[in-house]
Amino acid sequence: MPETLIRNAQTILTMDDDGRELEGTDILLRDGVIAAIGRGLRTGGEVVEASRCVVTPGLVNTHHHLYQTLTRAVPGGQDALLFGWLKTLYPIWARFGPEEIRISALTGLAELALSGCTLTSDHLYLYPNGARLDDTIDAAQEIGLRFHATRGAMSIGESDGGLPPDSLVEREEAILEDCIRVVDAFHDPREGAMVRIGVAPCSPFSVTRELMRDTALLARDKGVMMHTHLAENDEDIAYSLATFGCRPGQYAEELGWTGPDVWHAHCVKLDGAEIDLFADTRTGVAHCPCSNCRLGSGIAPVRAMVDAGVPVGLGVDGSASNDGSNLVAEARQAMLLQRVTRGADAMSAREALRLATRGGAEVLGRYDCGQVTVGKRADLALWDVSGIDSAGSWDRAALLLAGPQRVRHLFVEGRQVVRDGLLATIDLDATISRQNTLALQLSQ
Ligand SMILES: [Zn+2]
Repeated sequence: MPETLIRNAQTILTMDDDGRELEGTDILLRDGVIAAIGRGLRTGGEVVEASRCVVTPGLVNTHHHLYQTLTRAVPGGQDALLFGWLKTLYPIWARFGPEEIRISALTGLAELALSGCTLTSDHLYLYPNGARLDDTIDAAQEIGLRFHATRGAMSIGESDGGLPPDSLVEREEAILEDCIRVVDAFHDPREGAMVRIGVAPCSPFSVTRELMRDTALLARDKGVMMHTHLAENDEDIAYSLATFGCRPGQYAEELGWTGPDVWHAHCVKLDGAEIDLFADTRTGVAHCPCSNCRLGSGIAPVRAMVDAGVPVGLGVDGSASNDGSNLVAEARQAMLLQRVTRGADAMSAREALRLATRGGAEVLGRYDCGQVTVGKRADLALWDVSGIDSAGSWDRAALLLAGPQRVRHLFVEGRQVVRDGLLATIDLDATISRQNTLALQLSQ
């Protein structure tokens, strides 16, 4: 693979163990990794001038439902609480098929890329009308983002007392079979992997206890990670106490859903004992501040989690509950939300950005990503700080206080995905056009 030299970066926020920030420094990318960092580096390959840019590791999104990009701002769900919101959207999602899943994913991935994201997970838990996890993997490969797809599932439909319509739930044997199929077909455990697979029942209230236990056994047998929604809001806690007779953290622990190979979305309502449990077991959390605000779920105790040693990353969550997929905006929101309850010193711009990069990479088990250091994967976001967003800033590297919301350049595995603010790998206008056509069809 040809080399690329990023020359004379104004500042590099390395996110290394010492939190070093380098001025006027070059970065050489070769064979998908960061080959050298220093001054006066040379190359026979392409040169990207970065004197007006702050360079960060690519941002990492630890929770999304890319398929929801087709149902943003649906009127009946705009102001509903979580369970009511789901009831509004399930019948619409039941009309999706493979193309809706793929185009919706491509749109969400494009928005993520423009906002600095190089690695994203996705949680696809419904497979109507022949849709498959493969449809989202296709989209990720087309755009060139690193992808951690999770094979989600729901098995308790309305007739069994669940929330989703029966047409959106699957038999548990079929779920487990398809988990095995996609892990065998797509999961790459190697360093530098572009695609990994996880298993991910939608939530403890949408599958049985047996499926939670069996997916954990399957994941450990296959060596893949596990993901679900947990402790999202007060209704969620009440449901857990009434149905399982315990809090969500205990339920997770009993069924094997704690450990460094597990990450849970939201965790807004974890109590002190659950935070200690997650810290002791190195169980990860995907913090989704905009979604939590949007659905009125509350403020996750992120400060307490980080201080206790819980691995925390950020997630934009599904585009029907955010409604955007702007990951750098999400990082700013994470910083602001901790300050609402704990004061202006509760989280700095740099710490929130660290959660959005290295924090997320570690939650996803990607120790090969998330830092600008030699030997790590060449996943970089270049932020042009010469524009209006940064004008007058005394600290250009404090990106989340005053900085651009879109990248100038984005590299994944050394390949340029965003060039001069535009997607280099897909026809974005054609994607938006197709997306709007599908959304219009679904609205009728
Ligand atoms: Zn979610």
